[in-house]
Amino acid sequence: MTKIGILNLQGAVSEHLHITKKAIKNINANIEVEPVRYAEDVATCDGIIISGGESTVIGKLIHERGIDKVIKDKNIPVFGTCAGMVLLGKKTDFDQPLLGLMDITVKRNRYGRQKDSFEAPIEIFGQEYLGIFIRAPTLESFDNSKNDIQILSKLNDEIIAIKQGHNIAISFHPELTQDTLIHEYFIKEVLS
Ligand code: GLN
Repeated sequence: MTKIGILNLQGAVSEHLHITKKAIKNINANIEVEPVRYAEDVATCDGIIISGGESTVIGKLIHERGIDKVIKDKNIPVFGTCAGMVLLGKKTDFDQPLLGLMDITVKRNRYGRQKDSFEAPIEIFGQEYLGIFIRAPTLESFDNSKNDIQILSKLNDEIIAIKQGHNIAISFHPELTQDTLIHEYFIKEVLS
């Protein structure tokens, strides 16, 4: 059976688990979802979600546990939110271990500190959506010579959601809403 793993190293894991289950139900898909912690568990998944949290911590553990190698070797689609977006990038403005699956440069803490977190209506996949930004990153730049890159959403001219191949990076927190739109999109991507 198709399986989606929620990377369970640090961050908003249970929220992603909950909304992914809800999204699977909504589209009536035959998919299992479970939290995964080690490379051998990640290897059994057809898609991985990386939650928000602290990208330095998550990145360090991804490397130490060889999770990056498994994701790359098996070409597993990844959906990264907030810290997950940071980790999907090839570069950030910090020196930190990254997964580097997408040709994007990410600017961490773009809107300031924890206390500068905010909610804003955004548009994604032609629908209005509640963007919850918590010490969120945005894109500094992306490699526009890559024709598999697609911008999914912007806020005030800054890119807040982007897709490359089967990987999706978004700077906000869909797992803190009740709206399964983006998770459903990723699930369909995994199934395609
Ligand atoms: N600022 C965090 C980082 O760059 C991300 C914050 C979050 O995931 N909510 O690691």
